[in-house]
Amino acid sequence: SITSIIMQYAPIGVFALMVPVVAENGPKVLLPLLKVVIAVYLGCIIHSIAVYSLSVKIFAGMSPKHFFKGIFEAAMVAFTTSSSSGALPVTMRNAQENLGVPQSIAAFVLPLGATINMDGTALYQGVCALFIAQIYGVNLTIGQQLTVILSATLASIGTAGVPGAGFIMLTMVLQSVGLPIEASALIAGIDRILDMIRTSINIVGDASCSVVVAATEGELRETEKKPAS
Ligand code: ASP
Repeated sequence: SITSIIMQYAPIGVFALMVPVVAENGPKVLLPLLKVVIAVYLGCIIHSIAVYSLSVKIFAGMSPKHFFKGIFEAAMVAFTTSSSSGALPVTMRNAQENLGVPQSIAAFVLPLGATINMDGTALYQGVCALFIAQIYGVNLTIGQQLTVILSATLASIGTAGVPGAGFIMLTMVLQSVGLPIEASALIAGIDRILDMIRTSINIVGDASCSVVVAATEGELRETEKKPAS
């Protein structure tokens, strides 16, 4: 695909873009990248615990532990392949076999989710935009921060479920608030590490949505052993 061709040439371009940045600001500019990794991982974990646990619990009465255990295999495939589309067959199998989502709902919600529902990607783009603003000493106003939220949400919807696609769409988010798009080169070196977690979060979000849809349609099969009361 076009994305994989771009990603193959990316290291050369990234090197060329990073040299002037590091030459001007010194190697200390690289240290905050660690903060980006920690912020994205922490954000993804908090998001999944808060949003997905609550939605499966409230709308489907499913214990979050059962949900995360059921979708774990697909999350690992997403983590290692960094592709929602690549993980889709496993996400579909996990949702049907472990979470009790009927085939008719899984076959509609999950492929749609794999292309448009990307919470992890939106979160990552937001963190990266703030990071780049900080590095460049730009003070984002509240209005600009809201623009980041809106454009990251839209960009994540437009992101394809393949490795590195969210990084390419990040330029759109940067542009929306007037940050230099070549600054995304700073992120490029660590993008794969961030891609792994955001893709996992993306597909776990799709699965939680399929559970909620199945439950609200009254079609969720019981897969959880409930303690006898
Ligand atoms: N790799 C992500 C996915 O497939 C998309 C992205 O790059 O953010 O879900």
